[in-house]
Amino acid sequence: MTLFNKVVVTGGAGFIGSHLVDALIEKGLADRVVVIDNLSAGRREFIERWVREGVVELVVDDLRFVGRWVESVRGADIVFHLAADPEVRRGFTDPKSHFENNLLATFNLLEVCRRFGVEKHFFASSSTVYGDAKVFPTPESHPLEPISLYGAAKVGCEAMYRAYSKTLGFRVVVARYANIVGPRLRHGVVWDFVNKLLRNPSKLEILGDGTQRKSYLYISDAIEATIHLAKMLDRVEFEVFNVGNRDWITVREIADIVVEEMGLENVEYIYKPATSDGRGWPGDVKFMLLDISRIESTGWRPRHSSREAVRLTARAVLEELGYGGTRRGSEEQHGRC
Ligand code: NAD
Repeated sequence: MTLFNKVVVTGGAGFIGSHLVDALIEKGLADRVVVIDNLSAGRREFIERWVREGVVELVVDDLRFVGRWVESVRGADIVFHLAADPEVRRGFTDPKSHFENNLLATFNLLEVCRRFGVEKHFFASSSTVYGDAKVFPTPESHPLEPISLYGAAKVGCEAMYRAYSKTLGFRVVVARYANIVGPRLRHGVVWDFVNKLLRNPSKLEILGDGTQRKSYLYISDAIEATIHLAKMLDRVEFEVFNVGNRDWITVREIADIVVEEMGLENVEYIYKPATSDGRGWPGDVKFMLLDISRIESTGWRPRHSSREAVRLTARAVLEELGYGGTRRGSEEQHGRC
């Protein structure tokens, strides 16, 4: 028996969303999946095979506007809300994007869910809500003091979900994801390094002083956590969980892994700190390690370390880009993860 009749995944053609759609179908958790995505970052090909088979409906539309997508929410058992502008850096070049694609889009979605009486909700939040944390690993109870517009927008979205839960009885799980990485990733540090090294294999520009240390979670672990949390929605009203890893890794170490996976040698690292304390860009949280004991106490735990997650991602992204490096794919490389 399936867990849900009709599931809506906003941002379902994106990186995390498309893996979630795969899991919902492959694990037989949903009879029907509707993806709402404006394809600003998402890719039709990530979910194309399911659309062709008729098990997923793709509604190409924009949540910033109350339009055609509205009717597709009617009758949903659960809405996984993943659509967002996830680029922290954009907050300083195009702040309106975070306001519109994150806050306004979420408000529009919540209002439509209210209209159709959708009861269950999963919201993809972020570790950036904590800003520069004072405690590591950082528990869910830590003050929310975002230092980026992206983080601020996520705090606002969480607050809206809380209010709709308290006033209208929405059942809500909020996942504060650490950095999620894996195949199909098209943003973030691994993607950035791979693309820079493809353009110039002898030099790598590293944003920040390289000592930034953060936690990375492999996509399969993130999807398992997402489904695990969604299964709790019969029992919870409004709950927040950190979803991350037990360890962390520096940007310099990530550069080393990407260089190794590309089979390169003697790459010159050029550090470009954007602030006097070595951040990659204004709003970059320099240290991030989430306390995941809360979700672990419910029975989920990560299978891959941060280091493994980054290595597997570099390998997958290179393969997707058709890169034929000398050392990748060897027995030695495969044995390492
Ligand atoms: P992504 O960019 O790959 O996916 C977001 C999707 O939303 C894209 O497919 C995009 O086309 C779509 N979208 C954006 N604005 C839209 C709009 N106005 N209307 C309709 N669709 C729209 O990003 P992702 O990494 O898959 O992130 C998914 C969610 O998880 C986001 O909410 C993000 O903030 C959150 N998150 C991601 C990470 C991470 O490391 N990847 C970490 C913390 C939180």
